[in-house]
Order: sequence, then structure tokens, then C-alpha cells
Amino acid sequence: MKDQYGRPLTDLRISLTDRCNLRCVYCMPEEGIDFRPPDDLVQDDELVLLVRIAADLGVRRLRLTGGEPTVRPRVVDLVRQLAAIPGIEDMAMTTNGVLLKELAAPLAAAGLQRVNISLDTLDPQKFSRITRGGHVEKVLAGLAAAEAVRLTPIKLNSVVVRGFNEDDVVPLAALTLERPWEIRFIEMMPFSSVGDFAEAAVVKSEETMAAIEGALGPLEPVDLSGSDPARTYRLPRASGTLGFISPVSQPFCAKCGRLRLTADGRLRLCLLRDDEVDLLTPLRAGASYAVLTEIFKAGAFRRPFGHALAEKMFPQARAMIQIGG
Ligand code: SAM
Ligand code: SF4
Repeated sequence: MKDQYGRPLTDLRISLTDRCNLRCVYCMPEEGIDFRPPDDLVQDDELVLLVRIAADLGVRRLRLTGGEPTVRPRVVDLVRQLAAIPGIEDMAMTTNGVLLKELAAPLAAAGLQRVNISLDTLDPQKFSRITRGGHVEKVLAGLAAAEAVRLTPIKLNSVVVRGFNEDDVVPLAALTLERPWEIRFIEMMPFSSVGDFAEAAVVKSEETMAAIEGALGPLEPVDLSGSDPARTYRLPRASGTLGFISPVSQPFCAKCGRLRLTADGRLRLCLLRDDEVDLLTPLRAGASYAVLTEIFKAGAFRRPFGHALAEKMFPQARAMIQIGG
């Protein structure tokens, strides 16, 4: 399956829930998010059907996200069912890690292959401020559990936010000297739900890279090909790598082959545009497998070329937590 610009579509990101056990400043507004009633969300059997259709159309890699995917009821069983779908070769999860201490082993046994864990700082007070009340020790325990059951290679995601954690990029980057992790520094994207704040607090990758080089030495390029949204580098003699994801300063739309399914069953055609195709309503109205496949394929085909952050057109309809990154 390809879109109208010839970009191959092999990756599907699935939001398993619009809820979360944290409340990060760049992802959710302090209040005023309307969670969908559970019945409005794609149920397990419906999700398995939609992923089967996606796999028939050529999707090979799944990434489970949220909200926080680990708070979805019966997530382990769901992972087991998704892993068994013919054609699915790779399944990873993006998680805040809070529940991984308990869930890493059962998720790995159910067929999950890797995790990306979000970690913006190692400082307990700052972590609590960014996540509005979270405990960094839980994430570190989850990280250790994920490593112990080989949900590897581990990637850590850090959104860099001015006034919150721009000084933490150096201690985070220094973790790669000893650990074989990829730590990815992400430019904050200004969703309208957090728009004013986010626009002012974006730290461009260039600035993050300069801070790291100033403290820890030159960054040696590892992969700048653009096949992954992250441009990766290595510190001298480091075990792990550093990735820089720059949706604001260096958009990677030309190579973006990501499809996204929201927790309420919409195919979102671009993370940063509000253009969506409803799959759940026809599914519940009894549309056949063939008709749903056609709706999926036609929607995917008309993916837009890129986002319009540069023109200050920010997504309005959903906050990041309702899409999943
Ligand atoms: N709860 C999980 C987590 O935090 O990893 C998965 C969902 S979260 C929406 C997915 C990723 O999006 C996380 O790495 C998070 O840091 C990132 N994210 C959230 N809001 C963002 C924003 N405004 N700009 C850039 N990245 C953002
Ligand atoms: Fe929750 Fe992840 Fe959003 Fe933070 S970034 S509020 S952990 S969904």
C-alpha cells in the first residue's frame, strides 16, 4: 500500500486509549479534556479486525501508544492477539513506563518486542512538575524491568521544554556513555490544547545538540539518512546513541510512512493535521471486510504531503494525548 505521493505504508501506530496515569504539560491541558466513554473506543475484537485489514494491505509494523497504552484493560491479552495476526512482523510500544515494572514480563511473553519509554529528566522534582505529579523512580524501575526481559533495544524519548528540562539533556545524554540505549530528544510540537505555552517553550534540536557537545564532546554521526525521524549520533566511546527528532525545525514529512489509528477508531492521516477517516462507525454499522478494506485503503491513499506548523497551523481537534505521538 502506498499513498498518493508514493510513500510506502508499512507502519501503523495504534492509540489504545485516550487516558493516562500522568498529565504531561506538553501533552495535556491542565483541565478540560473530555475522555470518550469506554463504549466509544475500539473494542479488542474490533481492533483485531482493523489490524487484520491493515496487515492484508501491507502493514508490517505496529506501535502501540495512547494516552498511556498500559492502562488499557486486558492489554496483555490484546498484545497476544495482535502479535498473532499474519503479516505483523514487529510490535513495539511507546509508554511512560510507570506500569512496566509489573507489565514488562507479561507483555514480552505475549509478543511485544520493544519499548520506547518517555523520560524527560532524572530529577524527581522536575519529573513531578513536567508530568504533574509523577514519580520518576517508577519509570526507572519500569525501564530496568523492560531491559531484564529484553524489550530491547531500549529507546528513551525526551521532549525538551524550555523552563522545565532544557538543562537535563546533558545528564540524560550522558546515560548513553554506559548504557546501550538510544536517547531521543524531541522538539515539542505545539498542539492547540497547549499551543501558546508550547510555541514559546520549543527548544530546537540545534540548541540541544550544542548543549550536549559543549558538555560531553563531539557528536559523531551514526545515521542521518532520514529513514527514521531521528537523526542519530554517538558520543565518543559511548555504548548507546543519541537521536534528534525535529518536527518543528526540520520536518521529515517526505519520508513519513506512518498511519495512525486513534482510540476511537479513526485513521488519522497526519499527526499534525485534523484530517481523519472514520473506520469504527462503518464497522459497527455492519460494513463487510471488503468494504472496510476499501475505506482504509482509500483513506490511506489520500494522506497529505506534510504538516503546516511553519504556517502556524496547529492541530485543533485533538490534543496529543488523544492521538498518541
Ligand atoms: N503515554 C505514552 C508516553 O508518554 O510515552 C505514549 C503516548 S505519548 C502521547 C507519545 C509520545 O509523544 C511521548 O514520547 C511524548 O513525550 C510525546 N509527546 C507528547 N506531547 C508532545 C508534544 N507536544 N510534542 C512532542 N512530543 C510530544
Ligand atoms: Fe500521558 Fe504520555 Fe501524554 Fe505524558 S506524554 S500525558 S505520559 S500520554
